Amino acid sequence: MPYPSRPTIALVTDCLFCRIVAGDIPATVVRETDTTLAFRDIDPKAAVHVLVVTKEHFVDIASLAQADPELTGDLMETAAVVAETEGLLADGFRLIFNTGAYGGQEVDHVHAHVLGGEPLGPMVCK
Ligand code: 5GP
Ligand code: ZN
Repeated sequence: MPYPSRPTIALVTDCLFCRIVAGDIPATVVRETDTTLAFRDIDPKAAVHVLVVTKEHFVDIASLAQADPELTGDLMETAAVVAETEGLLADGFRLIFNTGAYGGQEVDHVHAHVLGGEPLGPMVCK
């Protein structure tokens, strides 16, 4: 059954994370693969806060996972390697995909938040 994905924005050159991937906007890159890029969040919410994106533009994790499971695997692998290289495996970490309006997604280019380096508290606040 086709996934009712939200429309892909017409001009990905207007997309903040596409511009970071293109090198138009600087970022502190911690890992790069052929298909993914990991860089530090500009406004970290934890001691370690890295964003992992696909180089190709997809709106969100649901769209990506439906369209390209292999690339989804690449994204998850990069997130896991970042967690390891950032020293998060021993004490644990959190991987978040904010998705859509209720999910609090602000940048409409799929990205995983890798958070850790300190206790993160409850998953959500009511
Ligand atoms: P979202 O709310 O879409 O899940 O997360 C977007 C994230 O992008 C936020 O955590 C925000 O701090 C981060 N962010 C916004 N603008 C920039 C930027 O220009 N550079 C970097 N590195 N992160 C950004
Ligand atoms: Zn994009």
